[in-house]
Amino acid sequence: MRIDVVTIFPSMFESYMAESMLRLAQERGIARVEVHDLRNYTTDRHRQVDDEPYGGGPGMVMKPEPFFAAVEDLADRFGAAQETIMMSPRGEPLTQAVLEDLAGASQLVLLCGRYEGVDERVHEHLATREVSIGDYVLTGGELPAMVLIDGVVRLLAGVLGDHTSVQEETFSGGLLEYPQYTRPATFRGWPVPEVLLSGNHSEIERWRAQRAREVTEERRPDLLGPEAREK
Ligand code: SAM
Repeated sequence: MRIDVVTIFPSMFESYMAESMLRLAQERGIARVEVHDLRNYTTDRHRQVDDEPYGGGPGMVMKPEPFFAAVEDLADRFGAAQETIMMSPRGEPLTQAVLEDLAGASQLVLLCGRYEGVDERVHEHLATREVSIGDYVLTGGELPAMVLIDGVVRLLAGVLGDHTSVQEETFSGGLLEYPQYTRPATFRGWPVPEVLLSGNHSEIERWRAQRAREVTEERRPDLLGPEAREK
């Protein structure tokens, strides 16, 4: 999978992309993430990417021309991406289902806004999708883009050591994950549940399924359908 990011702060991505799972995914040739400086697509002496909002109001709005120039240049060089995603608090909420959908693409472009946001024509005529990482407003789209990249790349086959882990974890089966433990068997007087030490795999599976359901009922009943909630 190829992911191109367009931002005015490319260096923000450097350390995250160079560590852990993202580094391995790139070393193994499974994902390639390239970050592009939006200012390289300006044509004026000051490399200006923002301007005052029409109609007045506080702050500055990001201009459309550099975003269009960047995406068109990327399409010329690497072919058209399946999705050009504007990171936006007004976008569709980023869920595990959205990540799974995006993980099926071979090429994505992510656009990061700043300031008061981005000229609406970028949202309407350049982005194929808008994605929000939650109902709160951050100063820029860089962290949201990194969240999306992390969530998508770990789903690609060959990135995580044991691929079954992504099938069993929280949200994948519509439930939160069961509790996990490691050594020591007793820590500060708190023991690991007996069943996990039993070696009885069917019992362990039953216990995990039951705990996953209980944890979901307690913390996120909204994840259970209305029928399941009534049971
Ligand atoms: N004035 C805008 C509004 O009220 O919707 C907020 C602009 S925000 C300060 C600047 C940029 O940060 C946005 O254009 C977007 O790219 C990014 N951003 C902020 N919060 C986000 C979120 N929850 N999800 C995705 N992107 C976000």
